[in-house]
Amino acid sequence: MAIELKQYLDSEGLRQWHQLVDSAQHIVIIGHHGPDGDAMGSSLGLCHLFRSLGKTDVQVVMPSLFPDFLKWLPGASDVLLYEYRRAATKTVLAKCDLLMCLDFNSLGRLEELAGPVGYCQAPRILIDHHLDPEPIAELVISDPPASSTSEIVFDLIWQLGYFPALTRDAAACIYCGMMTDTGGFTYNSSRPEIYFIISQLLTKGIDKDKIYRAVYNNYSESRMRLLGYILNEKMEYFPQRHASIFTLTKEEMTRFSFKKGDAEGIVNMPLQIQGTRLSISLREDTEKPLIRVSLRSVDDFPCNKMAEQFFNGGGHLNASGGSLKMTIEQARQQALKALEAYKDLLSDTPAK
Ligand code: 5GP
Ligand code: MN
Repeated sequence: MAIELKQYLDSEGLRQWHQLVDSAQHIVIIGHHGPDGDAMGSSLGLCHLFRSLGKTDVQVVMPSLFPDFLKWLPGASDVLLYEYRRAATKTVLAKCDLLMCLDFNSLGRLEELAGPVGYCQAPRILIDHHLDPEPIAELVISDPPASSTSEIVFDLIWQLGYFPALTRDAAACIYCGMMTDTGGFTYNSSRPEIYFIISQLLTKGIDKDKIYRAVYNNYSESRMRLLGYILNEKMEYFPQRHASIFTLTKEEMTRFSFKKGDAEGIVNMPLQIQGTRLSISLREDTEKPLIRVSLRSVDDFPCNKMAEQFFNGGGHLNASGGSLKMTIEQARQQALKALEAYKDLLSDTPAK
């Protein structure tokens, strides 16, 4: 079977892309709050590409700090972080003539940066893979079945004939986004197109094994011990529901010298228990009085529906999130309620 990548832009889309991008001189690329590997990888990948195409003023902006394990991404140190540099971000937004919105489907996902972006007059292009994108851009390129926004960015580069201009740095960023949104190609990653793209990225000289290590084998000792503590002392397992819940308080995070990103991936661990269908993580936010919720599932258990219904959030079928304005114990009760409400799906035959 010949592999053909998706062509997201029809003739009208192509016309719009060129109209918006070709004349743009001051481009801002924005990802979501709490940037993950895909938000960072897709944004920086596109930034490198635009620079290779001759754009001299391209700025990546994120609402908040990214985790340490993404520091190695080429260009990461030049990312403007709104939470620390509000005035500088507003200046950049004021003069930009194109706003690229990557890896989010509504301005709400920008949290405090939503206001300044809302005021920004520049036309917008949205590239994303979350369900139900809001009409927040002149050109919306949305594909929920895609593994990652980074994959869509690659498809666009391919369709637009920009692949020869893609540098090794850009390829590394795009690979990182695809890798992290699929848990190192262990979920949502069975479409052959993904491996065609990887083969093309490898021709740019990226070292995929090194990228894997930079992201996944880069923990501090205290983070490893935090993982052990959670699994040993905090994880509650509900065999009849094939589900797990754990909580994490600020006091516990302080005890384990918690740094941004240290919680990343821990919610996936309970899924390693045979037959587990759902894992719920409840974590006190380090700055705001709220509980950050992460949900992970396997097969067809709809995390996103549960996140919408119980945790003020949403996301993908197998990976969703949200937040609750309550105490950690109340959040735990809320999660127990969610397990009860979904008991028919959860008590079903165990995941194959
Ligand atoms: P994480 O558990 O890694 O924080 O988030 C997993 C996924 O859930 C994200 O990729 C995003 O799609 C979704 N998500 C996380 N937090 C929220 C939220 O507050 N609202 C919505 N709508 N989606 C969220
Ligand atoms: Mn993503």
